[in-house]
Amino acid sequence: MTCSSRRLAQFFPLSTAFFLLLVFFAPRVCAQKPDPELLAYIRTIRAIDNHSHPPALAINGQPDDEYDALPCAPLEPTDAPMTSRPENPQFLAAWKALYGYEYSDMSAAHVRELLAAKEQVKKEQGDNYPNWVLDHLGIEVELANREAMGPGLRPPRFRWVPFDDALLFPLNNSALASETPDRKFFFDREELLLQRYMRKLGVAKLPATLDEYLSQVVTATLEDQKNNGAVAVKFEAAYLRALDFEPADAPVAAQAYADYIHGGIPAKATYTTLQNYIFHHIAEEAGRLGMPVHFHTGFGCGGYFKMAGADPLLLESALDETSLRGTKFVLLHGGAGPFSKSVAALLVKPNVYTDFSEQTWLLPTRELSKNIRYWLEWFPEKVMFGTDLSPGTPEIDWEEIGWQTAESGREALAIALTGMIDDNEITRARAREIARMVLRGNALKLYGWPDR
Ligand SMILES: [Zn+2]
Repeated sequence: MTCSSRRLAQFFPLSTAFFLLLVFFAPRVCAQKPDPELLAYIRTIRAIDNHSHPPALAINGQPDDEYDALPCAPLEPTDAPMTSRPENPQFLAAWKALYGYEYSDMSAAHVRELLAAKEQVKKEQGDNYPNWVLDHLGIEVELANREAMGPGLRPPRFRWVPFDDALLFPLNNSALASETPDRKFFFDREELLLQRYMRKLGVAKLPATLDEYLSQVVTATLEDQKNNGAVAVKFEAAYLRALDFEPADAPVAAQAYADYIHGGIPAKATYTTLQNYIFHHIAEEAGRLGMPVHFHTGFGCGGYFKMAGADPLLLESALDETSLRGTKFVLLHGGAGPFSKSVAALLVKPNVYTDFSEQTWLLPTRELSKNIRYWLEWFPEKVMFGTDLSPGTPEIDWEEIGWQTAESGREALAIALTGMIDDNEITRARAREIARMVLRGNALKLYGWPDR
């Protein structure tokens, strides 16, 4: 029996014929609504946002450009997924909730008023504006995945997650960069980032041996990131190569580094072995330093993004390495798109976690709720809230995207848990517990932060 017919049957004495008719038609009307009391409770929980790209405040009118190591804006344009298009009514609701927007349309004149109201709040709040936004999104702590932190983004509300992909690619990248137009742009960015890391360490040129590179550049960068407040490190490697970081032979990797560090283009397989070896070093060191390793999994931006290479199952051998069991891995975006179910199975590994960031702006709320429910039915201790908010247009910027994603995330969680209560999988009390775990408790445990 479906949910609506069962509920109705409880309340109305129905003739058999009418009841059968109702059951027949019920699937069309059986869309699970969130339990109002549970949703109200969920709205009171101050969340930890496991993944986001908030912009720093502009300096002298210059907008921040460090919110992502591999920003999508300069790529060949592609259509936005439906949920993130301006016509999503959630954005109108965001304007009302954040800036007191009084209209139910998006006319040019009304939007001008909105932009003026937004400017006014920015002026009034000054340096506190990003905190003000978080307050309105119900987010206590936001993990900010950025090249560096910037004005207005300060702990304890904003915690840094730097990128470490650049460390994987110390050799000549021209062959890899020529694989797609997007990769050309992305590898240029990674090379600049590696130079930036080396400048920060005072290392003038790449060392001659792999051992020296690992100690003087790789470990030194990780320690520097940790000393500058990093709480985790992030790989968006799926934009640059497939995620199959297989164990690599040390002498082969050392030879590849020595052969090509002074020039020449390595064969793809040779370079991959070196990248894999460097990755294992980074993952081990991140574990030693207590920084979980975040991985982009699933759907990525750009018309050339290789979806098959972003399958989280490709990470399995890395996740299974005994030497990396001291490192915690977070499969960001829950394998958004085709891989959500695979992620649920990977959560059985003791050091693997996931979040539903990105799915919050990729999927409508109901679809999102199905993935969340599936994961919760496997391992509720491993699932975390996340927005993946990032800068947008002046009208629909990180604040509105943050509101839309946080709202969808909360409502989807409420729908998932309501369904689990209705199907007698959990009690109402356990649903509240799980809601709290997903919105903050699981993240607090993962990062070792006290619950206040
Ligand atoms: Zn992201």
